[in-house]
Amino acid sequence: MKLETALQEVSARTRAAPLVIKMHPHDNVAVVVRDGGLPAGAVVEPDVVLLEHVPQGHKVALEGLAKGDPVRRYNVAIGYALQDIAAGRWVNEHLMQMPPALGLDHLPIATRQAPASDVLEGFTFQGYRNADGSVGTRNILAITTTVQCVSGVVGYAVRRIKEELLPRYPHVDDVVALTHTYGCGVAIDAPSAPIPIRTVRNISLNPNFGNELMVVSLGCEKMQPARLLPPGSIPLANADGPDVVVLQDESHVGFMSMIEDIMATAERHLVRLNARRREACPASALVVGMQCGGSDAFSGITANPALGYAADLLVRAGATVMFSENTEVRDGVDQLTSRASTPEVAEAIIREMAWYDAYLQAGSVDRSANTTPGNKKGGLSNIVEKAMGSIVKSGSSKIVGVLSPGERLRDKGIDGGLVFAATPASDFICGTLQLAAGMNLHIFTTGRGTPYGLAECPVIKVATRSELARRWHDLMDVNAGRIADGELDIEQLGWEIFQLMLDVASGRKTWAEQWKLANALTLFNPAPVT
Ligand code: CA
Repeated sequence: MKLETALQEVSARTRAAPLVIKMHPHDNVAVVVRDGGLPAGAVVEPDVVLLEHVPQGHKVALEGLAKGDPVRRYNVAIGYALQDIAAGRWVNEHLMQMPPALGLDHLPIATRQAPASDVLEGFTFQGYRNADGSVGTRNILAITTTVQCVSGVVGYAVRRIKEELLPRYPHVDDVVALTHTYGCGVAIDAPSAPIPIRTVRNISLNPNFGNELMVVSLGCEKMQPARLLPPGSIPLANADGPDVVVLQDESHVGFMSMIEDIMATAERHLVRLNARRREACPASALVVGMQCGGSDAFSGITANPALGYAADLLVRAGATVMFSENTEVRDGVDQLTSRASTPEVAEAIIREMAWYDAYLQAGSVDRSANTTPGNKKGGLSNIVEKAMGSIVKSGSSKIVGVLSPGERLRDKGIDGGLVFAATPASDFICGTLQLAAGMNLHIFTTGRGTPYGLAECPVIKVATRSELARRWHDLMDVNAGRIADGELDIEQLGWEIFQLMLDVASGRKTWAEQWKLANALTLFNPAPVT
């Protein structure tokens, strides 16, 4: 390309790049999208001049607001003016009163029409077909543990397996110890104890582990192998029961005999996993978990709307798409119940929200405990504003199913469509619960930046801003900041993300996989410990 042409293109792009973005015609604030923010005197709309410097990601008043007036973004009142606010002023959390929480009675139930859209056919990825009909995007040997006591021993064994055995089984991607802090010292008969127990069980059945079950137990723990994996829960490939190594077994004399037992058991599974090959699978076999973390005001302008578009494409292709994070959707619960496909689905959404409200209340907090100092620095004034930006990643499809924490899609007979998997918003707990649901591909948007990753499933990370994507060029897989830069529109980026999902599901490594960045599994245990 000639230099002149290149310069023309750059200048066209610069001209196209907006100063501020308004999400809805009825909004009275817009968000500054320029790197470094905008100075006093900048003209953001024909008759709106900034009265002060407004940082990137923060809101500017597009019209004068009187004390008590709603501050509207996404055509929703995200707060009420605590004082008169002149047009051109920086609207931050100090100038806004947070709206009260929505009640759970009198919500709209399954009122919204499904968007008219064609079924997408012919999209495939190269996956690993499992005997139970699910499809893995990775071929991983997972070693399930019943209690934290064994994690040091299992960690030692996994290091030896990777060094000594894995090189002989080149078609196996990895060996992962499913370690956690549950299993003993807990009230295992408490009413909410089934949540952590089924979470560990269902993670061990994740499609990326090829239906191969291997368990390491201590022996005296409360979560006994038979309690974790009762006979009915075990897939066909392990009809004779999961392979269990019990460290306290009398046959173990010395540490090395435990390690040899674990390694010999692992090798039997490695042989079977190594015989598997990728084959063409329909996009409908994807089970995508969506999440955001380290959010900023760009999350709801760039990355999450593009992800919402991609989520709609996945649903049209027959895939299953989960969104989660209770406290980040609680303030838009009316949007969720109205999008429910049936009254039963709406009732399930309300039931999950009510349960979580009570859980928070028992700890003497409410939904406002969600926002972080980084969220506020990034321009998100409160949880209502954060929630509206979070919900957009669910797209516009009807919600066809609801999972309680730790439940598995297959056990609920859900195969395809948009699902609300109720989880805390904590990145690690949400990811862990989505793994239990049966996620085989994870997509994660971030504005402030997080190096989040999982060993059990590929995680595609999407930066909301170009500045972050440039600085973290070897951590972020997608730069959604190009929307704010005027280079791409939401639909174009949505298609790009959809294609990237098919590539990553077929084996293309994410940055987190290349660096082997993985967060710990983190169980949600609302029950008491002893
Ligand atoms: Ca999160």
